[in-house]
Amino acid sequence: MPKGFTLWFTGLSASGKSTLAERVRDILLERGMRVEVLDGDEIRKNLSKGLGFSKEDRDTNIRRIGWVCHLLTRNDVVAIAAAISPYRAIREENRELIGRFVEVYCQCDLDTLKDRDPKGLYEKAINGEIKNFTGVSDPYEAPEKAEVVVDTASEDIDSSVNKIIATLEQLTYIPATDGRGYSEEEEESIKQRLKDLGYI
Ligand code: ADP
Repeated sequence: MPKGFTLWFTGLSASGKSTLAERVRDILLERGMRVEVLDGDEIRKNLSKGLGFSKEDRDTNIRRIGWVCHLLTRNDVVAIAAAISPYRAIREENRELIGRFVEVYCQCDLDTLKDRDPKGLYEKAINGEIKNFTGVSDPYEAPEKAEVVVDTASEDIDSSVNKIIATLEQLTYIPATDGRGYSEEEEESIKQRLKDLGYI
């Protein structure tokens, strides 16, 4: 039985990708799994150093992250990617390459993101000081068939984390535990989503 899979977070800046990636990583590490997080901001300082924000460079960046996730996944590691990954087609390429691929869409309305604005980037983008800023002056293509959708504007962090863990358990990518952090109703809605996607 393969143990590796890729958990792919996508969403606008400040939508919660890194926060959730780290929380899920900690839970999986506690459960004895081998886990690696590939965070978009970090990757741009090493693996993708020198790449900019043109469509071509963004695609190259996401393909590189996908390639590393592929290598990790086939070696029984859980790879967690947290990068904006704005283009559906490139995410789908990675899904095809990797196989065991779980997409998490971090949904969040723009007003909430502008309020959060932890690095002041939205303000700069709106003022035109940063060009090609995803969600403001550059496209973002939301997933149509993400295995998990979290709405971080309305859910607290624990709820979003529980939804992700519950989905991984339902997919049998991780073993189920007794102490569930989610209600039967939530479990039902996760099962329904996976049925609709043709998993179960
Ligand atoms: P990103 O990695 O997508 O740029 P971050 O994880 O750095 O985003 O920032 C997300 C911010 O939103 C954090 O300050 C986090 O505390 C907050 N937040 C509020 N609710 C949630 C949630 N349900 N999931 C994730 N983050 C949330």
